[in-house]
Amino acid sequence: MFVDSHCHLDRLDPRTHDGNIAAALDAARARDVRQFLAIAVTLEEVPGIAAIAREHDDVVISAGVHPLHVVPEEPSVEAIKECAERHEAVAIGETGLDYHYDGVSREVQHERFRRHLIAATELELPVIIHTRAAREDTLALIREHVDPRVGGVLHCFTEDLDMAREAVAHGFMISLSGIVTFRNAESVRELARQVPLDRLLIETDSPYLAPVPHRGKPNEPAWVVEVAECIAEERGISVEEVAMQTTANFYRLFKAAAPEASAEVREALSRSGLVV
Ligand SMILES: [Zn+2]
Ligand SMILES: [Zn+2]
Repeated sequence: MFVDSHCHLDRLDPRTHDGNIAAALDAARARDVRQFLAIAVTLEEVPGIAAIAREHDDVVISAGVHPLHVVPEEPSVEAIKECAERHEAVAIGETGLDYHYDGVSREVQHERFRRHLIAATELELPVIIHTRAAREDTLALIREHVDPRVGGVLHCFTEDLDMAREAVAHGFMISLSGIVTFRNAESVRELARQVPLDRLLIETDSPYLAPVPHRGKPNEPAWVVEVAECIAEERGISVEEVAMQTTANFYRLFKAAAPEASAEVREALSRSGLVV
């Protein structure tokens, strides 16, 4: 059984199951994807993804503002907390720093990220971090603000192994997306081999970044299986082992999602010696 730890369900492409979220979730369930974490890009879209979560027992949500999203007014720590609590988010994000693009200035990204980290710490919720070309600033803010007992995840991670190790040492998980299957992504496959298995998560980041053999199409949660298959091949272990361990990792990090795990998921994990 698999978990898609990062999908933008409210941004499903109209070409994917005619834009029908329930159909996309069913297609994923048919491939044994049992849990979905729907990620917010703005606070305004949180009520919409919360409505999706109310309709589907296997969907949980996050609350936050993406580093590259242009907002008329920067959210305060209080606004982030209030939104997360009201909509029962299991995590704060996605937040972070992306210096690869310059649509939002570094100063603004930095302050926005800091506020998210404070909100996450005050709510004792894990933080979902988007980080690109911003290694030192990302790690410095994590060290300053994140309680390692709560931790978080570096999602869709494409930076180097050293950065992954530093984050892992600070209580973080590393999440790999369909990029791991891309022909030119040998450095990400290196991560797939080297990051400890008990610190790995898998995600689609759908509708973006469809894995091989679906490249060029809009992505969907069902294709998280291809991510797990690639990691299994790189590590020389079974897909089942990757699936079970990344599922257990998910519930270990996102503790508020653990009570939502189905009885079937719990039984399978405990049979494998893993606990929710
Ligand atoms: Zn992201
Ligand atoms: Zn995302």
